[in-house]
Amino acid sequence: MTSPKAPGKAFRKGITLMELAEMFPDEESAQRWFEERFWPNGRCCGHCGSTNTKEASHAKMPYWCTDCRSYFSIKTGTLLEYTQLPLRKWVFAIYLHVTSLKGISSMKLHRDIGVAQKTAWHMLQRIRKAFDDSGPFDGPVDVDESYFGGKRANMSNAQRKEQTRTRHRRQDGCGWHQGSGHQSGTRPSR
Ligand SMILES: [Zn+2]
Repeated sequence: MTSPKAPGKAFRKGITLMELAEMFPDEESAQRWFEERFWPNGRCCGHCGSTNTKEASHAKMPYWCTDCRSYFSIKTGTLLEYTQLPLRKWVFAIYLHVTSLKGISSMKLHRDIGVAQKTAWHMLQRIRKAFDDSGPFDGPVDVDESYFGGKRANMSNAQRKEQTRTRHRRQDGCGWHQGSGHQSGTRPSR
């Protein structure tokens, strides 16, 4: 039996919203996903880019950078900076944005994930900046398990290496830092 094919270019094989909800049942799973995406080569300080870091006991900033002597979290220096929203909402917003051909409107995002429209608008600004300019997505993509599945643990080392290499080509330094414009050149050299 062959599976039916949807017509034309509109057909996109990928994970469904239902599957996404199952993959991200809690904040921890969302945080893990962001850490894998932002730090494909290991944890990295959002202030200075150093990998000389360790875990800390700070409530909101779980890591410590030994080089610039600052606390940081997955939010530091990324599109998640200063957000008070649950990271799960960000995962869903990113999914909705990247799976939509023309991008999602702030009105729709506001309704779909239950945030104020103004908040949705700000989220989309950041997501567009991070994902459309320098992120791993070229416009609408097949959002499959390699992006949202958190399946890296099940991969062979070779697969993992290849994925990291591919991602790394499209990122610079620490990860998906907020834009290349207003912050460029401000990173300390050490
Ligand atoms: Zn640092």
